[in-house]
Amino acid sequence: MSRPLKANVIPASAIREAYLDLDTTLRVSAERLGCGNDSIVTRARAMGLPSRGVLLTERARARAEKPCKRCCEVKPATAEHFNAELRNRDGLDVYCKPCSRWYSRASMARRRMEVGL
Ligand SMILES: [Zn+2]
Repeated sequence: MSRPLKANVIPASAIREAYLDLDTTLRVSAERLGCGNDSIVTRARAMGLPSRGVLLTERARARAEKPCKRCCEVKPATAEHFNAELRNRDGLDVYCKPCSRWYSRASMARRRMEVGL
């Protein structure tokens, strides 16, 4: 079994670039660099970079988009892509419509199993 490379042999510039590339998931970047995605995060945070969640949210806000909390896909922050959720500041659900549909179906099935129906 080949163990993933330690990220500390990878140049800091490559780590920074991979971490800040918000169009690519860390998993894909990690595969490309040949290290674990956790080690990219550890090194990037040690360089003082903010969390990817914060960066994604900032970028999304600037573009009037938001990332779904489940699939992490960035979608336009509109009622077409997110259900209404008046408790949230932007009035939209944190999960995109396909994810929230999947989630409510899964939790309904789980509840049914629990009651033994
Ligand atoms: Zn989603």
